[in-house]
Amino acid sequence: MSEVSVSPIHELRPRIIEKRERLEAAARSVSAEYLNGLLAEVDAALLRIDDGSYGTCEACHGAIEADRLAQNPLERFCLDHLNAEQRRAHEQDLELATQIQTRLLPAREIAAEGWRTHYRYQPAGMVGGDYCDIVASADERSLFFALGDIAGKGVAASLLMTHLTAIFRSLLSLDLPLPELMGRANRLFCESTPDTHYATLAAGRTTETGVDLCNAGHCRPVVLRCDRTEMVDSGGLPLGLFCGGQYAIRHIALDRGDSLVLYSDGITEAQDAEGNEYAEQRLIAVLQAHAEQGAAAMAGGVLGDAVRFRGSGPQQDDMTVLVVTRQE
Ligand SMILES: [Zn+2]
Repeated sequence: MSEVSVSPIHELRPRIIEKRERLEAAARSVSAEYLNGLLAEVDAALLRIDDGSYGTCEACHGAIEADRLAQNPLERFCLDHLNAEQRRAHEQDLELATQIQTRLLPAREIAAEGWRTHYRYQPAGMVGGDYCDIVASADERSLFFALGDIAGKGVAASLLMTHLTAIFRSLLSLDLPLPELMGRANRLFCESTPDTHYATLAAGRTTETGVDLCNAGHCRPVVLRCDRTEMVDSGGLPLGLFCGGQYAIRHIALDRGDSLVLYSDGITEAQDAEGNEYAEQRLIAVLQAHAEQGAAAMAGGVLGDAVRFRGSGPQQDDMTVLVVTRQE
């Protein structure tokens, strides 16, 4: 998904004025020079709101990136026009964010009694807004798995991905039934994120006969069987839209050798040089071609093929694919 929302101007003004009041309150504990510099920045932002130039770069008059403005309402320059020192600081922040995010991803292959998994995750920028997790239960007899897509891009989306990871990891320790796990995760996500942000998500848990699956507005998962392929329609609302959201679970019976595949729309909406979309059809064909070689071959096959399909064009969105296979 790609839309990024910025607070409307009338909401920004009180936020900036609050910054001003906090600065004045802290006046006694900081140097006068430092304080005056910060106050000048705040007043300049208020002026920009008044004269209508707020949100445009002082150097090129182009729009400042929405996610950067959302994080720092005092931002004066677009990424292209930061000075060398600011740019270095920005790059170091991103590198740190990448390291933090990489540590949050699960091990590449996690297995539990009778189940194998594999995933591939390729963010569009240094940090990603796809959420991907695989967690074995305490007795290692079942697996929880999830793949989500945060609306928006860049650092703001990656922070929410980090947040979603923390929410699910904490809730998983409570060993809740899947509908309750989803309901609580939605409430926590809703209460702690701006109401402009949400995440589509498909999550499930392995059982003795297949998987219990909940689809909160996410791309249709693929079920690969030895003789046919099925798509699972999306049922629920994305996480974070309505605090009281309820989530339906459906059981999908899987025989030995069958797989369930989750992916983000960065795969199916990837475009080639002529603007054609990768689409479900090609995804299914690649999965079928690799089905007999196991979960790792399927996940790697899809990502590799989507990258080849895109060619030299820019990667527009995060690409993630997660395969859960019931072992032979
Ligand atoms: Zn600029």
